[in-house]
Amino acid sequence: MSLGEIMDRVGIVKEKRFVAHDFVDIVVKLESNDDYDFKAGQFAFLTFNIHGKNETRAYSFACSPSLTKEKKILEFGIKKKEKGLVSTYVVDELQIGEEIWISQPTGFMTVDNAKTQDYVFIAVGSGITPIKSIISHLSETKEYENIVLIYGNKTSKDVAYHNFFISLNNALDNYKYYPVLSREKKEGYHYGHVQDVLFDEKNNLISNEKTYFLCGLPKMVFDVKDKLSKKGITPENILFEAY
Ligand SMILES: Cc1cc2nc3c(=O)[nH]c(=O)nc-3n(C[C@H](O)[C@H](O)[C@H](O)COP(=O)(O)OP(=O)(O)OC[C@H]3O[C@@H](n4cnc5c(N)ncnc54)[C@H](O)[C@@H]3O)c2cc1C
Repeated sequence: MSLGEIMDRVGIVKEKRFVAHDFVDIVVKLESNDDYDFKAGQFAFLTFNIHGKNETRAYSFACSPSLTKEKKILEFGIKKKEKGLVSTYVVDELQIGEEIWISQPTGFMTVDNAKTQDYVFIAVGSGITPIKSIISHLSETKEYENIVLIYGNKTSKDVAYHNFFISLNNALDNYKYYPVLSREKKEGYHYGHVQDVLFDEKNNLISNEKTYFLCGLPKMVFDVKDKLSKKGITPENILFEAY
């Protein structure tokens, strides 16, 4: 992408709230009046002016595209990375009213690239952001057979958007949420790794009738992808984004 494309639109930060101890959700209002369309699961390059210097990183949309269409609002979920320049700035310093630049949307981890409407979403850490966008979108369109979300973190204070995903238990049919913790045993959460839930035979989650969305740390994404293919899942049934 050229610089012009990367700094395509200006947005103003309208809200910033913590959704986990080191993870903020920011709401950005687009300034221009023309349409901005993205597909749930895509990302954009955001440019922040940090102490006088522009810094650009990729961030996935966290909201449903309908929110943007109706209100010109975008939502992003950003997790602080140890010694990470932009993510630390956003979590610790970004102020309401600041300007940021937003590129055109890009990315292929979208439901229109899915082979089936029986969805299994597997995320760790900040990988939950595009999944939140997709599930928000599906909760509006109801164009799905099943939604299963397996979301892994180290401890319960790392789990972003937990209340949102719990609230969908009442709002959606055929929806199941498995929050998974690898370093804390706590009621209401599964103990272990996302793989433990996914490959537990009693959960019955392995089938070529399902489409798998994997997002988050490369170690998890490529391990799950490899294990799924060893279980006979074809590559067309797996969409992923590793970062
Ligand atoms: C398609 C895509 C979508 C993404 N979506 C999201 C999202 O929705 N939410 C989200 O939070 N993130 C997302 N990311 C990740 C995001 O783009 C950034 O990479 C992340 O926020 C870290 O950026 P940073 O500037 O904080 O870290 P950087 O400053 O870029 O540093 C990255 C890492 O390198 C280490 N590092 C930096 N400098 C050095 C050095 N000199 N020596 C050794 N180590 C060093 C840092 O400790 C840090 O861990 C996405 C990435 C991609 C590719």
